[in-house]
Amino acid sequence: MHDSFGVREIFEEIRSILADPDVNRLGPDCAEPAWDGPLIGVSRGDDPLYAEFQETIGPFHWTPLEALRAGFPGIDVAASDLAVVVWALPQTAATRRDHRACTALPSRRWSLARHYGEAVNDRLRDRLVRVLVDAGYPAVAPVRLPAFGRETSERFGIASRWSERHAAYASALGTFGLSDGLITERGKAVRFGSVVAAIDLPPTPRPYSDRNGYCLHPSGCDACIRRCPTGAISAEGHDKERCFAYIRETTMPFVEDELGLPVASCGFCQTGVPCESRRPR
Ligand code: SF4
Ligand code: SF4
Repeated sequence: MHDSFGVREIFEEIRSILADPDVNRLGPDCAEPAWDGPLIGVSRGDDPLYAEFQETIGPFHWTPLEALRAGFPGIDVAASDLAVVVWALPQTAATRRDHRACTALPSRRWSLARHYGEAVNDRLRDRLVRVLVDAGYPAVAPVRLPAFGRETSERFGIASRWSERHAAYASALGTFGLSDGLITERGKAVRFGSVVAAIDLPPTPRPYSDRNGYCLHPSGCDACIRRCPTGAISAEGHDKERCFAYIRETTMPFVEDELGLPVASCGFCQTGVPCESRRPR
């Protein structure tokens, strides 16, 4: 039997976790919040966009039903029984300010958010799954499943089995920018999280149909091209191999020296740009 759970209860759960200063913090020695208040959206498991994502990214990319079945093998549900809940966690003003001032090596706050802030995001994913499962709704956080990992997409190179950015696009949270990041109402300096559950939630209406609708590039913006220290963004888009090579060879060793942690921290293309903290108009 299900406890009664709706969009309001789920959104409240996410917000209350982030309102807890013992959870939402930049690190064990830093009581500052890792994230500002979240944006939250919902899409249905049978939204045709998920089949499109699989077709364009590659057959390894999960649909919501495949993700749920990776956690609950053989579960007897249909794609139309599922909801995908996605949240965007905006970087704080202090983190954005520090990072905006950097040009080649990441700010300490940005790296702390990438490491400890992502651990907060994992707690959020795990807690929401537990709450839903305890209430009688089978649920998974796809990126927390043992089967989650990276594959090679013929079209896009390195790609994961579940893209939270794409789920965010489907769930009305924003559209893609030239740099591949998703531009939300709180900008592109955000991290995403998601949970797939067998629960009947209404989808958030998408106020766009153009996947690049919020990006100013076609009207001449090239700020993210200029911000990238390694030339990984051009008018043609985002060169993932070049981006990952810069992170692997330059920023990760720097952050490991600075924090003693191997953190994939970069994101210059997410700050010092018109889409940093809002939808540019
Ligand atoms: S910086 Fe300009 S071109 Fe790059 S994603 Fe943002 S709006 Fe688009
Ligand atoms: S993450 Fe760093 S290397 Fe990659 S595109 Fe953005 S600025 Fe360039």
